[in-house]
Amino acid sequence: MRKFLKLILSFTIFSVIVFTAASCSTKCNHVWKEATCTSAKTCTVCNAVRGEALGHSGGEATCLARATCERCGEEYGEKPDHIWVEASCEMAKHCEVCLQEEGEALGHTGGTATCVDKAVCERCQKEYGTVDFSNHLDRYQYVKTATTHREHCNCCGNDIGDEEPHSFVNGTCEVCGYTPTVAVSDAQAQAGEAVTLSVSLTDTVGIAGLQITVRFDPSRFTLASVEQGEIFEDFIFTASSNLANGSVFMWDGAAESVENGELLSLTFNVGDGISAGDYVVEITVSAYDVEMNEISLTIVNGKITVA
Ligand SMILES: [Zn+2]
Ligand SMILES: [Zn+2]
Ligand SMILES: [Zn+2]
Ligand SMILES: [Zn+2]
Ligand SMILES: [Zn+2]
Ligand SMILES: [Zn+2]
Repeated sequence: MRKFLKLILSFTIFSVIVFTAASCSTKCNHVWKEATCTSAKTCTVCNAVRGEALGHSGGEATCLARATCERCGEEYGEKPDHIWVEASCEMAKHCEVCLQEEGEALGHTGGTATCVDKAVCERCQKEYGTVDFSNHLDRYQYVKTATTHREHCNCCGNDIGDEEPHSFVNGTCEVCGYTPTVAVSDAQAQAGEAVTLSVSLTDTVGIAGLQITVRFDPSRFTLASVEQGEIFEDFIFTASSNLANGSVFMWDGAAESVENGELLSLTFNVGDGISAGDYVVEITVSAYDVEMNEISLTIVNGKITVA
């Protein structure tokens, strides 16, 4: 009996061992396929799964394209939003990546163009537009002829508008200031010598009558001779006969002359023993147009410099 029990027991143990061995031989000998982006490590035989899919990774998503996985080359994820740059003077609001625009550029604004400089934008400080030839910086200069004036801009060097006739009031153009001038030249002399000064008319606008009075220091100088200059030949010329200080010279024309040039040549004798210095030869001048209206003149005195 005991032997029998022992046998049974042995059989049972054997059976358990055999059974265990039999179930072991049916278990899968896994053949693993490594995990990929989208699937976990998987047995190709029994589809057993270990772990998880790796998931896509790497690459850079932009508003233009989804990210491309560095492992598998597939696109994945979402496109991010545009990266907006606010509108500026020259560019509309736009995505700095794909350059897609929204709305319009603001355009430059403000500043003032001149004849030499473009306007400078108040927002971006850039020059824009064109120079403005209606905004001259330094326009009040005139190009003058005997009969006309024309505005000239010193900044851009352009003449502006049209040549226009002078608008004379008492012989001076009230627009450009053009005025005829009678001037006595300067000269140098030694004591005891003779010296000649010239009286000339420039920038005349038309003179029909002229009177010049010459004053000098009679204690130092004598007016030795006076000759009529090359202009106003058709005028009646009258001269004081004594050529003293305060002598008067007159021209009387039947019509206005627009000639410029020398009116008189004055020859002085410089007294002996005159001390060195400048001695003024002064003139007073009256000029008239053909209707005897007085013409204003610029008068320039001369001087004799005794060395
Ligand atoms: Zn398996
Ligand atoms: Zn991937
Ligand atoms: Zn974009
Ligand atoms: Zn701007
Ligand atoms: Zn200008
Ligand atoms: Zn003028």
